[in-house]
Amino acid sequence: MKVAGIDIGGTSIKGMVIDDHGKMLHSLKIDTESSLGRDHIVENLKKIVGELHSAHQDIAGVGIGTAGRVNVATGEVVYATANLPGWQGTNVKKIIEHHLNLPVVVDNDANTALMGEQWLGAGRNLKDITMLTLGTGVGGANLVNGEIFRGAHWSGGEWGHVILIPNGLPCNCGQKGCMEQYLSGNALVRFAEKATNQSYESGVKVMEDYQNSRKEIVSVIEEYIAHLSVVITNLSNGLDPQAVIIGGGVIESKEFWWDAFLKALKKSAVPVEVRPALLGNMAGSIGAAKLIIDTIRNTHENGF
Ligand SMILES: [Zn+2]
Repeated sequence: MKVAGIDIGGTSIKGMVIDDHGKMLHSLKIDTESSLGRDHIVENLKKIVGELHSAHQDIAGVGIGTAGRVNVATGEVVYATANLPGWQGTNVKKIIEHHLNLPVVVDNDANTALMGEQWLGAGRNLKDITMLTLGTGVGGANLVNGEIFRGAHWSGGEWGHVILIPNGLPCNCGQKGCMEQYLSGNALVRFAEKATNQSYESGVKVMEDYQNSRKEIVSVIEEYIAHLSVVITNLSNGLDPQAVIIGGGVIESKEFWWDAFLKALKKSAVPVEVRPALLGNMAGSIGAAKLIIDTIRNTHENGF
C-alpha cells in the first residue's frame, strides 16, 4: 500500500509518498505562507497533496498532521494559535477528501511525530512512550499501550502548557510559568540574550558559546538542563513510559548538551530512559502516513 503523509506547520508544509514498509518514494516541501490566512494555507495544502497524487495516482489515502488540537473523529481543528491564522474551526479532513476523493485522517502534529518515531525512529518496538518536541514551542504526545492518548478534549499530551514555575513567565495560552516559556528553542535563545546582553541568531550559536565555556551561557544551559530533568522526572512519575523521546530543533544540537543532561538526570530518583528522536523534521509526515495506513487497515478489518 502507498499513502501520502503531510505535516502542516507554521512555516512549511511537508509531504511525502511512502509505502507500508516505510520506503519513501517522493517528498516535497512548500512554504505555508500562514500570514496570508486560512484560505491561502488551504490552497497550499491542496497544491502539495495534488502534486503527490499526480505523481502517485495509486495512493490509498492521505494522513495529515497539523499544528493545533484536532478532533481526529471529524478532522476538525478545534484549537489553533496565531501561528496558523483562521485555522481553528477548519475541517481539514473534509476539504482534502472532497479535493481528492480518497480517505483522509487528520491529527495533531506532535501525535503524528510520535507515531513516526514509533514506526521508523527512536521508539521502534515500544508501546509506552512520551514524546516532547523542543522547537519554536514545546509539543508533547503520549503513546499508552500502543495507542495515542488524545484525552477527552483532544488536548492530551499538551505538556508545553503544564506549569513548571508557578507565577512564572506569561505564556501565549493565558497562563503563567508554562514549560514552553522555559524549554522551547525560542526560550533558550531569549534566556541567552538576557544573560549576555547580545542577540543570538539561533540556538546553535548559543550552544557554540556553551561549548566555549562562556560563563553566562554555561549558567543558562545548566538551568535549562535542570528544568528539563524535572520535567522528565515528572513525566516518568505520571506515566511510567518505557522511554521519553525528545525531538524538535533543540535536539539537532544535542552533541553539545545531551551528556550533561543525562548526568543531571541520573541524580533523579526515577530510572527513566530518554532517547533523542531520530527522524528530525520528517517524523510528523512519516507518522501521518502511518496513521492513514492503520486507519485503512482497521476499516477493512471491520468490514466497512
Ligand atoms: Zn502556556
